[in-house]
Amino acid sequence: MINLLVIGTIAYDSIESPFGKVENVLGGSALHFTNAASFFTDVGIVAAVGRDFDLKDIKFLEERNVDIRGISIEEGNTFRWEGRYGYDLNQAITLKTELNVIERFKPHIPDDYLSADFIFLANIDPELQTYVIDQIKRPAIIVLDTMNFWIENKFSALMDAVKKVDMIIVNESELREMTKEYSLVKAARKIMELGPSCVVVKRGEYGVFMAERNGLFLAPAFPLEEVFDPTGAGDTFAGGFMGYLANVGNVNPETIKQAIIMGSVMASFNVEDFGINRIKRLGYDEIKDRYTAFKRCLNFGDIKFK
Ligand code: AMP
Repeated sequence: MINLLVIGTIAYDSIESPFGKVENVLGGSALHFTNAASFFTDVGIVAAVGRDFDLKDIKFLEERNVDIRGISIEEGNTFRWEGRYGYDLNQAITLKTELNVIERFKPHIPDDYLSADFIFLANIDPELQTYVIDQIKRPAIIVLDTMNFWIENKFSALMDAVKKVDMIIVNESELREMTKEYSLVKAARKIMELGPSCVVVKRGEYGVFMAERNGLFLAPAFPLEEVFDPTGAGDTFAGGFMGYLANVGNVNPETIKQAIIMGSVMASFNVEDFGINRIKRLGYDEIKDRYTAFKRCLNFGDIKFK
């Protein structure tokens, strides 16, 4: 029985950064997410791949209890994304997006997935996100991610989906583009007026900003010596975040803050190698050690005032 359902893309990514170049490596929002979340809970993944996809490449996920019955193989090619980073690794420049099989994708969601308590609508066509929301059995915590491609091409469908979810997780530039507000506080408030009760904003190497109805929270990113490829860091963050929450089974301002730290720990690994490679070979002990190192960076004694 799965605890966490994700729908999103499985992709072949071609990525260029100042530190190297790779072609057609495994990626996609749902795959990066699942790779991280599967350390914490039982995940069911819904995505489409083309006839060119070799399911053996994701066999390792089944060893982490991931249920892949929701992956459908469709006529045509797998989704492809090409992106480039300059020295500002926080900003991906999309060179090409080939939707391929996801253009006509109408997911068949296994019945038992629909009673999962935690649902993550990873970055994919917002019409598909709504198609999933409408089938979910309540109560469930539904969280949505998106990106500029959908904000620019399917804005009203995206807003319809946002109104129906409990929480959104987006990049800061995407939140500004969605709300036409510069202040993250104002922008988050605008989203909360639509329905969601919590907005989590990913700020790349500057960490995370979170707003909920009664407060704000800030977390830095873990400082790394080597950063190769930030692709998928956002989805990996979301995987650690949702995986942690689904494992704890209880969503409140305190567990949301802990989940942000766990998401940040997972994202810090993702950027250390291209594609999904680093998280694929990650061990649970490494997660614990990085959490300890992260916590040490956040600790300081109370300042005494006169
Ligand atoms: P991020 O975590 O934001 O770096 O997400 C990167 C992943 O998103 C890559 O592995 C891409 O395959 C995938 N991606 C890129 N563009 C899109 C899109 N328009 N819709 C869904 N997924 C995408």
